[in-house]
Amino acid sequence: MEPTQPLPGQQPGAPSGLILDGQPTTALTPTQLAQIAKEARLLPPILGQIVEYLVTDPVGFTLTTAELITAASQINSLQKAFQPLDLVREQPDYARIALAMVTDTAASTQVAQLLGVRQGLAMSGMHARAVLGYLTRWPAFAATLTGTGPDRFGVPVRIVARIDSAYGDACYLDGELLLKAFSLLHPYGYLRLFLHEAGHATFERSLLAGAVLPPEVATAAAAEIGRCVELVAQLARSGPVGNQTAELASLQLRLPNGAATVAAIKAMSPDARSLYGAWLVLRRNGGQYLLGLDLGPSMSPAERRRYQAGDFGEFCAESFMQAATTELAEYVRGLQPAAAGTPPEVLTAWTTAVQILLAYRKRIVGAQVR
Ligand SMILES: [Zn+2]
Repeated sequence: MEPTQPLPGQQPGAPSGLILDGQPTTALTPTQLAQIAKEARLLPPILGQIVEYLVTDPVGFTLTTAELITAASQINSLQKAFQPLDLVREQPDYARIALAMVTDTAASTQVAQLLGVRQGLAMSGMHARAVLGYLTRWPAFAATLTGTGPDRFGVPVRIVARIDSAYGDACYLDGELLLKAFSLLHPYGYLRLFLHEAGHATFERSLLAGAVLPPEVATAAAAEIGRCVELVAQLARSGPVGNQTAELASLQLRLPNGAATVAAIKAMSPDARSLYGAWLVLRRNGGQYLLGLDLGPSMSPAERRRYQAGDFGEFCAESFMQAATTELAEYVRGLQPAAAGTPPEVLTAWTTAVQILLAYRKRIVGAQVR
């Protein structure tokens, strides 16, 4: 392991170790120890040992008592996973590597610097390396995501002990991108999740110019929304030809939440409307021709296809991630041969979607360096 660098925002020589509920802490009182150990479901001596490590940690932790409870219980599960006795006894070198994959914080420190993370927990070595690998191969991305100024998104990133279980190990919430420090996901699943959340924070926001779609539009609640998109696109392209204006007015009366639905589709940019129209085709049959990838045990690839089919915002985030990892272009190429039996309207929809996604990818993640 390399020596640990201070996180950005920490002064060299500033006290490291544990700040608990705003107070520098060198040890817990017996009452605190008993209470926190009970809530973390740990034996007090084990909690005491974890706190000793936190207190002497060179990077330092700033935690609330509630976060300490989560952190202690997760540290305990992790250290148990990396302490199979036979492995340590018979393969001490392998055990040392396994431990370093969790405890090496050098990559996390680099990720924190690139993403402007001011302070917080360190990610485990293997997860940080997956993220760092991506940020290194696509060097413009970190600044576009977190920087301020024209064509940048100014998204603050935090590495946290806990994320509400409704969201998984990463989430884009209230304008912030949160990454969970202690993840049990496969590192590449973790990277994909980071890119999915970054897709909400950048691609979806930019495509929809910050608009939040009414739920009827986001979930394509009525089949006639497709016709509505066609009419709005035709009217925007060439003005009223024939009775399109009257047809749209009558559609608006029939569609659920019709006025807001038509207004949202009219407010979309041509790119947004094209991608939305493509999604309406690709979402058919539970998203049969969407791409489902493995991001960990919470959803299978088939469930991730249905997830994208159910919500346009999720399609935006997931397909951005797939474009960002270059897996999407490969998948769509695989649908092309006539022998694949893909319906022509699906191929057309994917061609439109990939064109838009790659144009935005270029602006958001920049060029890849080998
Ligand atoms: Zn999402």
